[in-house]
Amino acid sequence: MRQNNLSVHSENILPIIKKWLYSDKDIFIRELVSNATDAINKVKILRSSEVLTCDDDSFKISVNIDKKNKKISIADTGIGMTEEEVEKYIAQIAFSGAEEFVAKYKSQTEKDPIIGHFGLGFYSAYMVATNVEIHTLSYKDGAKSVYWSCDGSSSYSIGEGTRKERGTEIVLTVEDEEYLDESKIRELLNRYCSFMPFPIDLNGKSINNKEPLWIKNPSNCTEKEYLEFYRQLYPLEAEPLFWIHLNVDYPFHLQGILFFPKIHRRFDASESTIKLFCNRVFVSDKCKDILPDYLTILRGVIDSPDIPLNVSRSYLQVDQNVKQLSSHISKKISDRLSQLYKTDKDKYTNAWPDIEMIVKLGILQDEKFYDRIKDVLIWQTTDGNWTNIHDYLERAKDKKVYYTSSNKSSPILDLYHEKKIEILISNLPIDTAIIQSLEEKLSITFQRVDGSIDPNLLDPSREKTLLDADGKTASAKIATFIRSSLNTENLEVEAKSLNSDKLPAILVLDENQRRLRDYMTMTQGKNSFPTKKTFVVNTNHPLVQVIERLQNKEPEVAKDLAQSLYDLSLLSQREIAADDLESMVSRQTSILNKLGSLIV
Ligand code: ADP
Repeated sequence: MRQNNLSVHSENILPIIKKWLYSDKDIFIRELVSNATDAINKVKILRSSEVLTCDDDSFKISVNIDKKNKKISIADTGIGMTEEEVEKYIAQIAFSGAEEFVAKYKSQTEKDPIIGHFGLGFYSAYMVATNVEIHTLSYKDGAKSVYWSCDGSSSYSIGEGTRKERGTEIVLTVEDEEYLDESKIRELLNRYCSFMPFPIDLNGKSINNKEPLWIKNPSNCTEKEYLEFYRQLYPLEAEPLFWIHLNVDYPFHLQGILFFPKIHRRFDASESTIKLFCNRVFVSDKCKDILPDYLTILRGVIDSPDIPLNVSRSYLQVDQNVKQLSSHISKKISDRLSQLYKTDKDKYTNAWPDIEMIVKLGILQDEKFYDRIKDVLIWQTTDGNWTNIHDYLERAKDKKVYYTSSNKSSPILDLYHEKKIEILISNLPIDTAIIQSLEEKLSITFQRVDGSIDPNLLDPSREKTLLDADGKTASAKIATFIRSSLNTENLEVEAKSLNSDKLPAILVLDENQRRLRDYMTMTQGKNSFPTKKTFVVNTNHPLVQVIERLQNKEPEVAKDLAQSLYDLSLLSQREIAADDLESMVSRQTSILNKLGSLIV
């Protein structure tokens, strides 16, 4: 046995690996099992080049925990290493054996790719081990078995070993009880190695018997298989709505299955739950950049050897490849949604509450996505139908889109319905931004039903145009009277002849100011942004006519009625602040009391 020193680089690198590079200790097992997988892959490649012969049955990775002696061992039936190779690949960590190997057997490796690219994975063992030993026997003719041992300092021993079969066994001495627990290691193997291509067992029990669905040809996968796969990935989730199976060869390699989950309106764009794999090795489920923000709600897996990971493999480096990949996925998603809309509108509209945030965020964040998706941005109308803006405008008289924030029936909506004006329901906070963006893109106007009194809603035939002795119309007079009855600042009052006799009054909120207020409320919570309000009373409604008749005879009663009318409008349009509700109730109680006592 000889003593030797690790190459100079390692003196700096070991402490870095221990403390910083792998902030997540758990991944040591992934790295060592990946190395074992690579070593077996190399056997397969050598076999196909007829350098050696062996059966598929011999491909195997065994993980064993010996709690009593504080050891974890990872043994493979891969190509093994000669003493020279251990010196080179393990001791001089700056060399990445994988890279050399790839260069040598480039043409074959595309089928059986090598997982490690970094030349540092092996040393992640020191995050949990106080000592690491290697027992290895190379496939090469006449190779001798090698033993290597190092306690994480810069010196190691190397010499002849005792291993009899081709392959490598890495033995870690572990002080940390947590990692000597079989269930902990099983959980880690399940997390990282479930879909690896060679059989893995832990203390004799098999870990990965699952062939990953994403590598199968989509035309051979059944709906049942997709649903089962989803359950396997997310056991606690409701069934997904639909999915897309990605299979890209050019300009990068990517396979995967993305599921649209059932989310309803709960949405957190900051958390991605996509599982990222690199050649079937689980890498991370916190890879935000691989998908545009608006798609982070999707679930599923992406497996690509072309995603550049930094040395610890757990974080993406955002480069041109990742951007291309992300826009490719976005295109696939919009194609899938458009196709579903065309072929199964019912399924699409049923799924809408779960997918609308994807569509709407995408429209706001990505111009190209908008172009592809604009026709499948749909709205429900107050009649219960669904439409996109294009179709709506085809039917509409003018280039205006009317909408309501509440889908409850109301006298205001009836006013529009009577005129056969279609009303879209738009009640998500994000809709304000969507509306704004569509107005700019399409040069159209959106108007909430209480955003102004549209000329279409007036009945000019019943308008009170006659002037009295003071040169005022009856409408102007009632408006002035009601204005003076209300103890409210910043309010205009108008009296109009509306087309309906059922709606006594409507509070018109300046469209732009109200949008700004909604936006401020959405972004800053509570907000007291002032909105210009106009209280429009309907001169054709009996109650307004009563006020008109009483304004000279019983001005006090008329004033109370005007106040009640205003309060009711505030209530029906939800324009009353929670703090003002109590005072409104006591005001109304006292008005009713006064009116009641007049009759008694
Ligand atoms: P990487 O795998 O990223 O190249 P590692 O530090 O994990 O880097 O390993 C360095 C090299 O050591 C590998 O490229 C490989 O040549 C060799 N090696 C590591 N583990 C094994 C193993 N189980 N069997 C054969 N060779 C191995």
